[in-house]
Amino acid sequence: MQTLVNKPLLLDSTSAEWELDGVARYRRDQISQWIFARRAASFGEMTDLPAGLRETLDTNYELRAISLVHVQGSRDTTRKLLWSLRGGDYVESVLIPASPDLYGERADRFTLCISTQVGCAYGCRFCASGLEGFKRNLSAGEIVAQIMETERVTGEKINNLVFMGMGEPLANYKNLMRAMDIINAPKGLNIGARHITVSTSGLAPVIRKLAEDPRQIRLALSLHGATDEVRDRIMPVNKKYPLAELLDACAYHSDRKKKMMTFEYILINGVNDGLDQAAMLARHATRIHAKVNLIPYNKVEGMDWVRPSMKRIHAFAARVREGGAVATVRLEKGHDIDAACGQLRLRRVREDAAGDPKVVAPAEGAEPRSA
Ligand code: SAH
Ligand code: SF4
Repeated sequence: MQTLVNKPLLLDSTSAEWELDGVARYRRDQISQWIFARRAASFGEMTDLPAGLRETLDTNYELRAISLVHVQGSRDTTRKLLWSLRGGDYVESVLIPASPDLYGERADRFTLCISTQVGCAYGCRFCASGLEGFKRNLSAGEIVAQIMETERVTGEKINNLVFMGMGEPLANYKNLMRAMDIINAPKGLNIGARHITVSTSGLAPVIRKLAEDPRQIRLALSLHGATDEVRDRIMPVNKKYPLAELLDACAYHSDRKKKMMTFEYILINGVNDGLDQAAMLARHATRIHAKVNLIPYNKVEGMDWVRPSMKRIHAFAARVREGGAVATVRLEKGHDIDAACGQLRLRRVREDAAGDPKVVAPAEGAEPRSA
């Protein structure tokens, strides 16, 4: 079984790259069809392939990148899925119904929030994903697998993607873009770039690179502070790419794409929720032509930050709007699962380290923050 880890993942390469000597193009297309259209879970199911080819595939490649460890939450609200990767690491995805099931109707649009790394090197002070540091990048196949496996285990069709799970997507640009190729391809997952949002903590040079990509992938910036002083306190990445440089990169991106981007702004009591920050935030947003998502902070175990009162949150939002920007307060529907991505996995990692039984108990009173 151990050798399985060494087999390359089939979906880390394109069908033309598969090392299958002498196997014709139409056969490769047939394999793709089994994977994407028919969602085969093993090579053995690909019954119209010659037995020899199925064997070769099985010997040389792994089809399953991830397997489900735990689901938390219910269909009507938000479900968090914990996956184990080959090699034993964990990552999470969060499935969010677009319309909550308030009237007993089935939600018919789903957004999936995906992870791009195991852990995160950026160490934002409020975030669970960075708490144990960075472990590794996810491969393209592991990124794509989160979508395919979520569809398989839940039976839902995913319409929108947000790269707001664990990790910094723009620090894993090559694999992110490889995954994007598969996700966008009509014969792949066929999810259009306009339905995909990539969130970054502010890697200015990579934002510029993304601006050159011909696709209309949406961009969200985790701003969380409207001055260097505040941002430096909570996001170490700001020392590397300070606000002026970052906002210039965003302006460049908006200009190239002719599309509104989003500023994500977590509200943390007494840290970044002053009205002076709101006024500056409005200035940045109107300059870049960005909409503002205000996200009341979700408590992370072991961190001291708390969310402001509703009164403070609404005063902040009002000040941003007075400054001429479009601002939405993201009060999420679900109150029944862990907050931000990274928390479920963090708990699991700690339990494994402590040798506890492999059970993940739902946390009380936390809210999902994705999308
Ligand atoms: N690394 C990327 C994408 C993953 S984080 C980024 O930072 O943008 C996705 C979003 O979740 C970010 O806006 C992040 O700041 C936010 N987030 C992290 N911890 C949070 C918390 N405890 N409460 C609310 N939002 C949080
Ligand atoms: Fe990493 Fe984003 Fe969390 Fe910052 S907010 S630690 S960049 S995942």
